[in-house]
Amino acid sequence: MIRVAVAGALGRMGLEVSQAVRAAADLQLAGGVDVRAGDGVATDLRRAISQGQPQVLVDFTVADAAYANAMTALELGVRPVIGTTGMSPEQQNDIERRARESRTGAFIAPNFALGAVLMMYFAKIGARYFDSAEVIDLHHDQKIDSPSGTGHKTAQMMAEARGKPFAMNVSEKEPLAGARGAEWQGIRLHSVRLPGFVAHHEVIFGAQGQVLTIRHDSTDRTCFMPGVLIAIREVVKLDKLVVGLDQLLGLT
Ligand code: NAP
Repeated sequence: MIRVAVAGALGRMGLEVSQAVRAAADLQLAGGVDVRAGDGVATDLRRAISQGQPQVLVDFTVADAAYANAMTALELGVRPVIGTTGMSPEQQNDIERRARESRTGAFIAPNFALGAVLMMYFAKIGARYFDSAEVIDLHHDQKIDSPSGTGHKTAQMMAEARGKPFAMNVSEKEPLAGARGAEWQGIRLHSVRLPGFVAHHEVIFGAQGQVLTIRHDSTDRTCFMPGVLIAIREVVKLDKLVVGLDQLLGLT
């Protein structure tokens, strides 16, 4: 039985995680932390850890809180599993150092959706065989950043896998600026923001006489839960920081 506490326990993701942990036979919910107190949810992480004695702290809060929570957790021998996005490289480096020095497992995943992780993996393979590619991310109209972190990361991984920029059509006219989207290493990135979408990504490879499309659709927050549960079960076996679900799934 792995004892799991949740930071951001009253947030959208935190509530899903608590429910998924409760439903798993090999996991036990050992308290929660949030800005406001609630049923089984405290406001002080040290007190929550001392009362609940968790082995793992799953964090879906905000970047600065996730950083502070991870440093406290590692100090107290609790392994952080961090889904919160937006931490700085320096904050991630500090977590890496503290995990290594204390020989305590820690895990960070920018995307816990297994399908999205597989999409990125398949896109890396396609990047070795196609000279031209574009990436589209489609999200609800409340999303504040464009392109999506996953769309940008996918383009970065594709360019790295290829080892050189993609071929891009540059001889065109653009009477309306921005019509061809943003650009990364020869890959055009387009962002659609409309009510009705949740989170969707498309990688399109084009070559003479053929088009290959790889598409992932997240239709619900529950898509992240299998990835979160894998991370909880794996982080207890680690003695350092690991970043990315692909690392736990052998997709490197
Ligand atoms: P949310 O609904 O706003 O939940 C965040 C919760 O954390 C809120 O209840 C918030 O309280 C609380 N919180 C803020 N500071 C805290 C602190 N210092 N200690 C404890 N709790 C604190 O947001 P969400 O949609 O669940 O998303 C949370 C994070 O997860 C975001 O960074 C998002 O980008 C990320 N995310 C990652 C993945 C992935 O696959 N890696 C998937 C989905 C979301 P208040 O509301 O009172 O401020």
